[in-house]
Amino acid sequence: MHKLNFWCRVPEGGTRRVFRQAKAGLMAVLAGVVFGEAAEVKGTARAVEAPDPVKALVAQLALDKYQATIKALTQFGDRREGTERNRAAVDWIEAQLRSYGYATERIKYDYFPTDPRRPSGPVVRPGVAEGGGKIRGQRTRLGVNTDPLKQPDEKLRALNKPGSVPGAREEVFCTKVGTTHPEEMYIIAAHLDGIGWGEAANDDGSGTALVMEIARILGAPGVQSERTIRFCLWNNEETGLQGARAYVDQRATGQGREVPAGSGKYPEPRWLGMIQHDMLLFDHGMPRPDGTMSPEQRPEADVNVEFQSTAKMADGAMKLAWFFQAANEKYATDYPVTVGPHMTNTDSTPFMDLVPAISLRENERGMHIGAGWDPQWHQPTDVYAAYSEKDFLLGLNAAQTTLSAIALLAGVSVE
Ligand SMILES: [Zn+2]
Repeated sequence: MHKLNFWCRVPEGGTRRVFRQAKAGLMAVLAGVVFGEAAEVKGTARAVEAPDPVKALVAQLALDKYQATIKALTQFGDRREGTERNRAAVDWIEAQLRSYGYATERIKYDYFPTDPRRPSGPVVRPGVAEGGGKIRGQRTRLGVNTDPLKQPDEKLRALNKPGSVPGAREEVFCTKVGTTHPEEMYIIAAHLDGIGWGEAANDDGSGTALVMEIARILGAPGVQSERTIRFCLWNNEETGLQGARAYVDQRATGQGREVPAGSGKYPEPRWLGMIQHDMLLFDHGMPRPDGTMSPEQRPEADVNVEFQSTAKMADGAMKLAWFFQAANEKYATDYPVTVGPHMTNTDSTPFMDLVPAISLRENERGMHIGAGWDPQWHQPTDVYAAYSEKDFLLGLNAAQTTLSAIALLAGVSVE
């Protein structure tokens, strides 16, 4: 409105016409992005009025549904890997994905805590935050809670009591096969396992529910995607990313192969991008000097999209991150995206030298979460009841960001 007034005040009809032409041109470009080349020259007027299918898809993401999915995940306690409650969570997630219309698959691998640890990010140097960058300002103590008595809820304490048993592990994924490019794929992911004697509501129920909700919306009848989209719920993130590594180890070399030849089927389409979601709810700012936190979300709350500047695919990952920022600006309802170069310590790490990989989070992993900006992290307090409606809304905006960006990148259309 403000801009329009500015243009209209110019005392020469010519400028008004230029504005109208510029606006129509912009709409045509945006429509072209959304609809692909087919919509190119159908006439400007029609392009202006055409409904935006991405906007319609994003509008299907509902706060109450997102919250309900996180709440449902908390019935399995902390979902610690190597336990019955973790296997029950995998089964439950699989049943949900099937109810959305997908065939599901599983990755199987073994995990022994004595396995040699592999780095979960770039090498940490003294004075540098994990993933790179510098921690500034107030920090608090960190760590994983191992004391059951710190969980005041007796029922939850009992649920979380059985310890992890070394051995066989499984994780589940489902796939929306591309119509015109089934051989190319985006991976949307989060980790289902948690730790710390809570409910793993934020870490990483918030990401798991986000992936499930996007799968549900894109799985609806009449929704088509030109390129393949895969939804992965990793296990063993908390023990060192073994679930995501198992996927990379087992499937990276099979990328883009048609099996059997001539079938048009690609068990492992060529990876175009990997998008990880890990902790999306809590952005209350820096700890106070006494170590306490603001009970309120900070007014500057944002979704942090990180790539890793030391990765072999850093250039592509950076472009992917900025694409997500632009999609957020156009389609997310409440919170902006901030892009940063220090992605680390999550399941996108094993992918980052092979494919452009990014992570979405409530804060930067190294400089913020690594300085204690999330007091629930790996603690008994990471329970559903710890988060406000505004906190859940931040997670929903991350979902809006990923859904809109992927719809544009993969070429999603709605009949
Ligand atoms: Zn996590």
